[in-house]
Amino acid sequence: MGDARDAIAAPLIDPFGPDAGGVWLKGNLHAHTTESDGTAEPARRAAQYRERGYDFLCLSDHHRLTRVDRVPAPPGLTLIQGAELHPDNPFGGQKYHLLAYNMTADLDAERMPPQHVIDSVRKQGGSVWLAHPHWIGINVRRDVLPLTGLAGIEVFNTICQRMGRGESAVIWDDWLDHADRLLPAIANDDCHGGPEYGDDLFQGWTMVRSADRTPQAIIAALEQGASYCTTGPEIRSLRITRPASLELRSRPLRLEVSCSPAVRVTAVCSRRGADYPAGPLDPARPFERAVLPLPLADWVRVEIADVHGRKAWSNPVDLTGLAAAG
Ligand SMILES: [Zn+2]
Ligand SMILES: [Zn+2]
Repeated sequence: MGDARDAIAAPLIDPFGPDAGGVWLKGNLHAHTTESDGTAEPARRAAQYRERGYDFLCLSDHHRLTRVDRVPAPPGLTLIQGAELHPDNPFGGQKYHLLAYNMTADLDAERMPPQHVIDSVRKQGGSVWLAHPHWIGINVRRDVLPLTGLAGIEVFNTICQRMGRGESAVIWDDWLDHADRLLPAIANDDCHGGPEYGDDLFQGWTMVRSADRTPQAIIAALEQGASYCTTGPEIRSLRITRPASLELRSRPLRLEVSCSPAVRVTAVCSRRGADYPAGPLDPARPFERAVLPLPLADWVRVEIADVHGRKAWSNPVDLTGLAAAG
């Protein structure tokens, strides 16, 4: 623990803290079945993910709900009812790909403006997330800022990664710089299955610290940022302080992260950032703890890479309180 006078950054919800409560759950919130263009029937898709230890899954077929009350969920798997919706883009960009969770009734989304789709899902008690924005060429200023009510972003998508545009972190950063709040992320497979898609299961998932296993608690925890995204590495804790004594004037904040064996930790800030180790990677010397000095920025998010090139992404943490503490 740090000096008693150290100021500590407070995330909205800190999923790693001792007081976080609840349980860690593993899930994929983007999967297609024979109800749209996937190759597995809904029950088979659910069984595949449960067999690999997943705790929650959304059968997010295109355009319409795959109703979970008609899918025999294997014991231990929470099915979150949702769909991938595709309203036209009136701002000049590509058609949207929106992931809607905890939806209760179908919408004719293709005939609705995107804002109406978001509002309608939210009126049903649901949550709407921007899917694979890098893959579809989303421009934050043109396509995202005109909308309100989006919960967050899909930062990693397995099938889009197979097509070279699976990581949307740069778009996340752009959005964070322009949004009036911090936005959480999810990582998903977007699995379709079948030979033309290659192997697209079990490669990107979200870990969430949820109060319980209900769809409502899981989505609420994701919206609050009590989660991280990963293609392999585990984030165990993340703590940011402003030590009273640190000498580094240009980087007065201190980030401590612990994780599964990693070869690189990168702190991406609203302004500059830091990485560890600062020199070349040494695959022969993975580490499980890193300390990085950070500048006084508005926010920071952490990326961790392991020796296989797999990554984890933390949600952003608000640093403005620490800046004020100085
Ligand atoms: Zn899509
Ligand atoms: Zn999809």
